[in-house]
Amino acid sequence: MSKVVLVTGGSRGIGRQVAIQLAKEGYRLLINYNKSQKEAQETCRFLREEGYQVEIFKADVSKQDQVKAMFDFCMDRFGSIDVLVNNSGISYEGLITDMDEEDWDRIIDTNLKSVFLCSKEALKHMISNHSGKIINISSMWGQVGASCEVAYSASKAGMIGFTKALAKEVGPSGINVNAIAPGVIMTDMMKDFDQSDIDYLKGETPLMRLGQPEDIANLVSFLVSDKADFITGQVLASNGGFVI
Ligand code: NAP
Repeated sequence: MSKVVLVTGGSRGIGRQVAIQLAKEGYRLLINYNKSQKEAQETCRFLREEGYQVEIFKADVSKQDQVKAMFDFCMDRFGSIDVLVNNSGISYEGLITDMDEEDWDRIIDTNLKSVFLCSKEALKHMISNHSGKIINISSMWGQVGASCEVAYSASKAGMIGFTKALAKEVGPSGINVNAIAPGVIMTDMMKDFDQSDIDYLKGETPLMRLGQPEDIANLVSFLVSDKADFITGQVLASNGGFVI
């Protein structure tokens, strides 16, 4: 039987492309979404028409009961969870002095607590199988920090610390845990940036272009493959050289 992958936030952007790529590579797939039901259903329909085994599940990954229900569904439908891609995320731009507690909690819960909740559920099965891969989609801002994105940067830096610590903890159980730190990737997350912002960011990127979801999906594809079996606890950057 082919391996089972759960991609959180697979309804749009990077997660959607990761889901499409891994389905095409033969993995059975559970695509998580929260608000974008229509997009998740369309992706599911498209992949099923191509003959791939795909399910979708609505869950807010910052909520323990919903995460648990999602993994129960995964085990019920597929009987396994071999790869977890913690991709769901939201951004927040603004001065730290203007940020209220509710927004802080929303960013940290969605971007970081979700990684704890999903990884914990996945590990229950991975540890007993003595095998599994967890990929955490962090950000270059988690590596170097972004002005006016303190909470986002903190959540993404937290994912990197989580990745390194968990890799040490579960390596003896045959489980690889790695993070990807994307640069600027053209998805809905960039929709508030105007053309001059985009041009500036391009100019700051040595490869002189911004990233596409495929750039990240390719790296996920490598990390989940057997070719990456000796890689764990690492942060792999795909950022066009923006952060070196
Ligand atoms: P996006 O297009 O805005 O998509 C975000 C995804 O996260 C959506 O599928 C959304 O699902 C999901 N999501 C948000 N809150 C959720 C929740 N509470 N529960 C479940 N799913 C939730 O963003 P993206 O650019 O693809 O970002 C994907 C990941 O890459 C994020 O972690 C982001 O921080 C990271 N990243 C992005 C960039 C970039 O430049 N784009 C750079 C570095 C890192 P629904 O719409 O269904 O709610």
